[in-house]
Amino acid sequence: MGKTVLITGAAGFLGSHLCDRFIKEGYRVLGMDNLITGDIRNIEHLFKNENFEFYNHDVTKFIHVPGKLDYILHFASPASPIDYLKIPIQTLKVGSLGTHHCLGLAKEKGARILIASTSEIYGDPLVHPQSEDYYGNVNTIGPRGVYDEAKRFQESLTMAYHRFHGMETRIVRIFNTYGPRMRLNDGRVIPAFIGQSLRGENLTVFGDGTQTRSFCYVDDQIEGIYRLLLSDYSQPVNIGNPDELTINDFAEEIIKLTGTDQKIVYKKLPKDDPMQRQPDITRAKEILGWEPKVSREEGMRITYNYFKNLSKEDLLKKEH
Ligand code: NAD
Ligand code: UDP
Repeated sequence: MGKTVLITGAAGFLGSHLCDRFIKEGYRVLGMDNLITGDIRNIEHLFKNENFEFYNHDVTKFIHVPGKLDYILHFASPASPIDYLKIPIQTLKVGSLGTHHCLGLAKEKGARILIASTSEIYGDPLVHPQSEDYYGNVNTIGPRGVYDEAKRFQESLTMAYHRFHGMETRIVRIFNTYGPRMRLNDGRVIPAFIGQSLRGENLTVFGDGTQTRSFCYVDDQIEGIYRLLLSDYSQPVNIGNPDELTINDFAEEIIKLTGTDQKIVYKKLPKDDPMQRQPDITRAKEILGWEPKVSREEGMRITYNYFKNLSKEDLLKKEH
């Protein structure tokens, strides 16, 4: 019998791509989600697959799944700043209680568990690029703290289960990832800019646009996560694309890509918005033999085509 994997956050952007990948690799996939920021349409195509089962469940409540479990991938959590600012308590709970339930379930089933951490644990970094041995610079009481600290606690809890119970744990620190199935209205910069282009609106750059990000295409991210899960490495690993650029330059790229003559308008920078971010991926290269393959030009073309084909109703939906 094939291996069984539980994926939390299955109806979300990354979770749904993980479901596809594990189904393709021949696993039995249990997808779990409470649909708070996800969209069931991301996994509907899997419902007819006999190796896929969906559980509509909030992981901050006790998790029960019948039968054997080989792997758990814990991806449930709001991930965009506007989502976690809108639902701050749920964000703290899914990173803490939700992770505790997933770790408990993994212990009970003897399963290996991988948790989705984030570059946000580095906060507004004072070290550049960010390598895994940097401890970060996070404002615990700022608005972003609800996400950053939940994820830092998640890492601590996971390492405690690893050390105390001898469990097999994996921690991926995901840097900004994009691609099809992001929610057009989730407020992250890529769907925000593309949505504005498609609606003929001005592009909203926050702050003076000199802050940087490094964007990773989803297929590269999923490959990195897959390799990490199957590795024997229990320390955190950064997965992201080191190709860094300013948000101003990115806005110009979007104008070129969409062939529109939009203007850039400047809005207030959100509190604690990190000024620079670039992953140091030396560890991922050495341990996993992984590095990103998809250029921003190619990844953005695929992503733009995806958003272009959404319905008018999706395009005009402002709130989730
Ligand atoms: P997403 O919002 O698209 O997906 C998250 C999913 O989790 C949603 O389907 C949501 O409904 C579900 N969820 C949230 N709370 C839940 C709960 N209590 N119980 C069950 N399901 C719940 O976000 P995403 O971009 O796919 O992010 C997935 C994971 O990856 C998150 O843990 C996020 O922190 C992490 N991550 C993502 C990025 C990125 O660039 N996409 C970067 C860093 C970390
Ligand atoms: N951003 C922007 N305009 C927008 C949305 C985001 O200028 O409409 C900026 C945001 O302030 C940040 C960067 O783009 O500096 C990336 O934002 P995103 O929310 O995508 O990711 P994160 O801040 O979590 O890295």
